[in-house]
Amino acid sequence: MATTVVWFWDDLRVHDNPALWKAARRGRVAPVFIYAPEELGERAWGGARKWWLHYSLQSLQESLRQRGNDLYLYRAPESLPVLEAVLTTTRADALYWNTRYDPIGRTLQERVAHTFKARGIEVRAFPSRLMHDPDSVRTDSGQPYTVFTPFWKRFLQTAQVPSPLPAPERLLPPESAPPEGVSLESLRLLPVPDWAGGIRATWQPGEAAAHQRLQAFLQQAVHAYADMRDRPDVDGTSRLSPYLANGEISPRQIWHATLNASGGQWSKGVESFLRELGWREFAYHVLYHHPHTLTEPLRPEFRNFPWQDTTTPEVRAWHKGRTGIPMVDAGMRQLWHTGWMHNRVRMIVASWLTKNLLYHWRLGEAWFWDTLVDADPANNVLGWQWSAGCGADAAPYYRIFNPVLQGRRFDPNGAYVRQWVPELRNLPTEYLHAPWEAPPSVLEAAGVALGQTYPFPQVELDKSRQRALELFENWHARG
Ligand code: FAD
Repeated sequence: MATTVVWFWDDLRVHDNPALWKAARRGRVAPVFIYAPEELGERAWGGARKWWLHYSLQSLQESLRQRGNDLYLYRAPESLPVLEAVLTTTRADALYWNTRYDPIGRTLQERVAHTFKARGIEVRAFPSRLMHDPDSVRTDSGQPYTVFTPFWKRFLQTAQVPSPLPAPERLLPPESAPPEGVSLESLRLLPVPDWAGGIRATWQPGEAAAHQRLQAFLQQAVHAYADMRDRPDVDGTSRLSPYLANGEISPRQIWHATLNASGGQWSKGVESFLRELGWREFAYHVLYHHPHTLTEPLRPEFRNFPWQDTTTPEVRAWHKGRTGIPMVDAGMRQLWHTGWMHNRVRMIVASWLTKNLLYHWRLGEAWFWDTLVDADPANNVLGWQWSAGCGADAAPYYRIFNPVLQGRRFDPNGAYVRQWVPELRNLPTEYLHAPWEAPPSVLEAAGVALGQTYPFPQVELDKSRQRALELFENWHARG
């Protein structure tokens, strides 16, 4: 019977996994995960994703064992020699995986495919990370899209989202064993010392947990999603992003489950939610067609924009949520504590760093990469370049979020700031988003001493906004 090696990466699930499904139909299967952070360079898993990866691999290993197989884990500087050894020892004649779309993954998979095809191995990669093929959704003139709305319109007109595949019931192991792997613990993905208590209390990684989360969202929050998705003080979004980043759930599973739950009706909530999944497609579309945007802005006129590119005490205060701007601090502390931040607040903290403070979007992107449990190369780069005004369909340079007005609008009762910035908890709501505006007696009654219990703003809101506007305007005038 034929044996196929299945190379897992960011598709850590057994349901709707085309590589695993096709391999199981072909015969025996050797499921492999290779932890090789060195070959990913700066795009190796960040701290928070490593924590998630540990539990994700554990959950996948259990699912594979329940099906009569296992997940063979390896630790190596490079994937290719490990794949070679597994193919040889298991006498496999095929190597399958699910297609990667990010630049580093693409280069790697091309090298692997080239090497093994030349040796007569059947090499196949299957689409499953996205709902569309980035090569097939194009403008009338055959160009890729750089603006979301027309991309989404074309997607809805042309893309057929395939129905998800079931999980294979049984997975026959290879007849001859692969090389001895390593234990999950020896990968040392969990942090020492343990700083992940807040993440652990917030999340349950794994494929089953992803589906529980989806079902809970579809039963409740999706109905009000269009109105509530911008409110960080309520549990109004799906929080599926870390499961998507690790591939514990696929976008097409979410797509079909959402439409099934709504009886095929595109209610306001359903439309708005699927549109956000569309932004994820768009992010990958842009990165696929413009791989240089992993590190460079999509809009070339911003290549030499004079953003400060070093981590100073000002940036470290932003990391720690000590900027003196309550909405920014709440977001940064939510991120540090739980590994996740609400989308609206991501935009606010990114605008603060790249516009009010004029630091390079790459510094923010790198911090998010290390601290987010949902760190995703396409979404993170798109989000940062959008916020900085230098990316696809970006916020125009003159759009500088006012974190005080944003706070009053999207955290109207102050519950979000009170949760994450408890030293301001007793301030009346009218001053909560701008404590420096409160009269001394109010501050005193609330136990707030600015500059002592809570910092003054790093920079003045109006002045920093004006400074950024002038700089961006001059830059445009020059270009
Ligand atoms: P929901 O509102 O429930 O949306 C469902 C899914 O749609 C999300 O899980 C996500 O996959 C996708 N989605 C939603 N909004 C966006 C968006 N704006 N762009 C692309 N896809 C979207 N998302 C990540 O997954 N990883 C990142 O590293 C990341 N970095 C970001 C950085 C910045 C500066 C900004 C502004 C946004 C970033 N986002 C990122 C996008 C967005 O903030 C998150 O996807 C969202 O907050 C995840 O929460 P959710 O699953 O509850 O989203």
